[in-house]
Amino acid sequence: MTAVNFAIVGYGGMGSYHATSLMVTEKEKINLVGVYDILESRREVAQTNGFKTYETLEELLEDENVEAVLVATPNDTHKELAIQAMQAGKNVLCEKPVALNVAEFDDILAVAKETGKIFMVHQNRRWDPDFLIVRNLYKEKTIGDIFQIESRVQGANGIPGDWRHLKKHGGGMLLDWGVHLLDQLLFLVESPIQSMHVDFSTVLGDEVDDGFITFITFENGVKAIVEVGTTNYVKLPRWYIKGINGSARIDDWDLSGKIVRATNTNAQTPAPIQAGVGLTKTMAPPSEDATEELTFPEPVCDYEPFYANVYEVMHHGATPIVKNKEVRQVLSLIEDMFALIKEKELTQV
Ligand code: NAD
Repeated sequence: MTAVNFAIVGYGGMGSYHATSLMVTEKEKINLVGVYDILESRREVAQTNGFKTYETLEELLEDENVEAVLVATPNDTHKELAIQAMQAGKNVLCEKPVALNVAEFDDILAVAKETGKIFMVHQNRRWDPDFLIVRNLYKEKTIGDIFQIESRVQGANGIPGDWRHLKKHGGGMLLDWGVHLLDQLLFLVESPIQSMHVDFSTVLGDEVDDGFITFITFENGVKAIVEVGTTNYVKLPRWYIKGINGSARIDDWDLSGKIVRATNTNAQTPAPIQAGVGLTKTMAPPSEDATEELTFPEPVCDYEPFYANVYEVMHHGATPIVKNKEVRQVLSLIEDMFALIKEKELTQV
């Protein structure tokens, strides 16, 4: 087995994580030849971590030993770097969001076609254990047909870093976390979108969104709420799922939470409970003989690990798990969301 010889462009938070963690899990298949970062200080960190560094991008692209380039730089630089690398004869793996809009992505794809080079995107959260559990529940219908999906990530630390605060660099949370959650959702539901509403959060006063909430209805009837927040001192669950026979809640990435399924529709009606200053039967918990609590299924993945797939695609012509057609759908959805927000802003003037 000959490994794919990679070089990394951009040795910041994510570039270094690829180098020291993600690529290492597929040592036999992925070989890191060297690293380039525009900042000397980051090149020094790469050297300290034991990697060869290039002084310039040109030096990296001229290295015939480099077969593929990982682009892990701020979002607005992806297009130019990816195109340069493909034109230099390298396959490219690009961090998400692949580009700032669909037109940019189409330019990248045109160069991939022209040069015959492979272009792939690291939309990695299809491999998250919490998502795999949700996918299992959706496919296996453990709580019946799922008709409502709520997917949230919430923190209280604001927008991180520097360039993520700025529009020109492709900052904001829709382009940052939105890509992940929307990629998961479209990959899961596999149905065209019928309608959508979206709202941005700008409570921190940045020129980009510090979070957003979107309501999506799919043509197959599934409804979804996707929410990203960076000003949430108390978080809502990572997932809340409703099926016709039960509900599931995954609280966090630690996979805490529960599934409750209806077992007996003829069970006794629950007794009324005191609720605040009133009484309710409607909101009383179901009687004990009406439901069962289930444990989560194992988060089993029926597709190969990300970098194993990169190897198979680049060396054996396999089909990418994250297809460019799907990457384009996610980006197009994001573009539609930006357009809806703009429309709303214009009508408010
Ligand atoms: P970062 O700011 O930590 O790192 C970016 C690095 O790129 C910096 O070291 C910077 O000096 C370098 N850089 C900037 N312009 C460059 C250029 N023209 N050539 C070479 N180097 C250049 O940012 P980050 O958090 O590592 O994010 C980088 C990319 O990775 C973004 O696109 C982000 O969305 C993505 N990302 C993906 C995930 C994921 O889970 N897939 C997670 C975090 C970040």
